[in-house]
Amino acid sequence: MRAVTAQPASPGALFPLVPRAGRGRRAGPERAGVCGYDPSMAGEPQADCLFCKIVAGDVPATVVHETETTLAFRDINPQAPTHVLVIPRAHYADAAALTDAEPTVAADVVRAAGRVAEQEGAVESGYRIVFNTGAGAGQTVFHAHAHVLAGRGLNWPPG
Ligand code: AMP
Ligand code: ZN
Repeated sequence: MRAVTAQPASPGALFPLVPRAGRGRRAGPERAGVCGYDPSMAGEPQADCLFCKIVAGDVPATVVHETETTLAFRDINPQAPTHVLVIPRAHYADAAALTDAEPTVAADVVRAAGRVAEQEGAVESGYRIVFNTGAGAGQTVFHAHAHVLAGRGLNWPPG
């Protein structure tokens, strides 16, 4: 797919944000207080979230793949020749919260990661899908995202 730079009207024009009231909400106390994240707002756009701003087109990104529920764009600080982030359009703090609330969208994220790997020609050589979860594991943006890494040797165990 042709890489495009997201403009303010771009992703929303193709897949408009629709009200998600009552869908997949999770207000369980177990996620309260995760880095200031308000679980009562799960699934809703967050004003202070970088990736919600990319979904809205308010922050530019080099988009390489999109679906009704997901967006994929190149990482601004690539750690491999292919380094793409796949995110749900809906805001959840991490992959576990997303899967609890909207398992089909979690599957959409993983499916989209596979499509990105195909587009990047990485299937034969292999690729890695990573969900950093929690600050201790290196998560810095608390909007669920999969890293798709390929194009160089990927060591195991990871650092
Ligand atoms: P993580 O550390 O797992 O939360 O991953 C967040 C990723 O977002 C990092 O790899 C950053 O390089 C990347 N990132 C931060 N800001 C941007 C941006 N504006 N556009 C694309 N990627 C970004
Ligand atoms: Zn967000």
